[in-house]
Amino acid sequence: MTCQPTDTPPADSFDIDALRARYRLERDKRVNRATTDQYVRATGDFEEIYEADPHSPVVARLPIEEDLDVAILGGGWTGVLAAYHLGQRGVSTFRVIDHAGGFGGVWYWNRYPGLSCDNDAYCYLPLLEETGFMPSKKFADGYEIRAYMNTIADRFGLGENALFHTRVTGLRWDDAIQRWHVTTDRGDDIRARFVIMANGLLNIPKLPGVPGIADFKGKIFHTGRWDYDYTGGTPEDPALEKLADKRVAIIGTGATAVQAVPFLGRHAAQLYVIQRTPSTVDKRVNPPTDPEWVKTLEPGWQKARQENFHRAAMERFRPGEPDLICDIWTEISRNMSAELAAEGWPDIAIGDYYARREVVDYRVMERLRARVDELVDDPATAESLKPWYRFLCKRPASNDAFYPTFNRPNVTLIDVAATRGVERLTEQGFVANGTEYPIDCLIFASGFEASSSLDRRWGIAEIVGRDGVSLYDHWRDGFTSLHGMMTRGFPNMFFTGYVQSALNSSTTEQMSRHDYHIAYIIRQAMERGAVAVEPSADEESAWVAHIRETAVDASQFLSECTPSYFNGENSEKPKSYAGEPYGPGWHAFEALLQAWRDAGDLRGLELTPPARGDA
Ligand code: NDP
Repeated sequence: MTCQPTDTPPADSFDIDALRARYRLERDKRVNRATTDQYVRATGDFEEIYEADPHSPVVARLPIEEDLDVAILGGGWTGVLAAYHLGQRGVSTFRVIDHAGGFGGVWYWNRYPGLSCDNDAYCYLPLLEETGFMPSKKFADGYEIRAYMNTIADRFGLGENALFHTRVTGLRWDDAIQRWHVTTDRGDDIRARFVIMANGLLNIPKLPGVPGIADFKGKIFHTGRWDYDYTGGTPEDPALEKLADKRVAIIGTGATAVQAVPFLGRHAAQLYVIQRTPSTVDKRVNPPTDPEWVKTLEPGWQKARQENFHRAAMERFRPGEPDLICDIWTEISRNMSAELAAEGWPDIAIGDYYARREVVDYRVMERLRARVDELVDDPATAESLKPWYRFLCKRPASNDAFYPTFNRPNVTLIDVAATRGVERLTEQGFVANGTEYPIDCLIFASGFEASSSLDRRWGIAEIVGRDGVSLYDHWRDGFTSLHGMMTRGFPNMFFTGYVQSALNSSTTEQMSRHDYHIAYIIRQAMERGAVAVEPSADEESAWVAHIRETAVDASQFLSECTPSYFNGENSEKPKSYAGEPYGPGWHAFEALLQAWRDAGDLRGLELTPPARGDA
């Protein structure tokens, strides 16, 4: 069935200027100039509480000392896909290293009740055509995603040498041997020729530095370390029966909390949902995968679907292009397309396009706010739950059970916007708006260190390149790189994700293509007998200049948004967590890298031959 535009309130049914003013007001209420410093790293006793692995026991092993071709830091999608692409290129001497007890990354750590992917699984899950796997429904459950990742790892033999429950503590380049010393909390010294940083964005739990955080004597955990021993239930069957006599509070109402809250509301004796900024929560149409539809799919279907999604979420549909995804992520583009189709696809200037899109954005947000009134009985609670910001200021969620949970007699919304967060924790509970609420259990759904400084976000004490330079110092005043994947002075080190490369709306596709390119360079370097490869100064400067000349200035949008990791908590100079994305976009970036590889000369990379007698 063709996906239809949604029915949203007409633009003349609300006052756009008043709406803009309301958005600014709500943002100002929440801006906290402490930005990321309002959060604390878990150390000491806290580290055990927030970062220990509740999912699998740590098994003792002897330290490893060895020479290795490639160390892949991270066993989430990026690391798994790096290993896959290396394998496809015939590079098989690698190790995936991760502090988790298995593959999965965020899908290893996060097992909270209701966990599922908010993105279309037919786009999000990589290599569907290569493996023949089909997710069971549009929005796949977390445990299905983790199982699929393990299937890929098994199928392609990626796990044999993996080092799990191993935290990398240091990376130090050794010019004498042209290798990286990878040191770990297991006492390993791995001398890796190449290092791929596949360490993700959402790997370290973020804790609000609420006064009294160490005083609370009840049970406390982060959603990324869900304690089923305490709550009862399992990820597959989250009947949290042990909460039947417990008073529980959850801090946060982001994408995680939206999924977990309905289960907590159903099972806890009392649930307090502590909200600073509301999410947008749409309905979740999540049909099982239709086998008849699967039979119609032609080779290349997944790429085509991902491209369709990318255009909807980050660019715009082509005239007449259907919306294959048809969910909250694509609604604005779909509705825009319907307007333009009705006008016969006029040729409009880019500025006018975005001005019209802004109005469609307001209309969609009006629809989402009206949805709260439809589903929440108490008018004051409904008012608090309404999001007042532009779409994509925060990650949109979809869930059918979230709003109705607030109609339960045992569930109370605690709005802490006025105090910019929870005021205080005490031995017995939390204080909000001057009232102390005694509780048995406090759950932090407070997100991850996605927009903090790199050293804090990566949690690796030292990364030292040639001449003893720390990567954190090297990038202190901004990124420098070639294609966002290598930087001069740090030979044989590869970055994935959010440095100076293009964004794709499917994170897994973005990371996979980075991994593909990195695997190409490593293979080429090996074939050419090089022991080290790094960008030349000229080529790196040229890329940095190109990135800055072509950058799309999103600062106004970001500064108008409520604070979150999307805009660096709206600091005085709001910046995206995505580094410096390539302005011309994904397809231009892919074409550029393809041409670079096709030229076959590794342009802009300096290759170091082995020293005489060196292998
Ligand atoms: P977020 O960072 O999105 O949300 C954290 C929440 O904690 C926010 O509501 C925040 O409020 C609140 N918070 C932080 N400090 C305080 C405080 N002092 N007092 C009260 N509230 C506070 O984290 P999530 O774990 O929800 O999501 C993180 C990311 O994980 C998502 O953006 C997404 O990328 C990913 N995710 C993906 C899913 C998927 O479907 N694939 C599902 C779930 C998560 P405020 O907004 O005011 O800062």
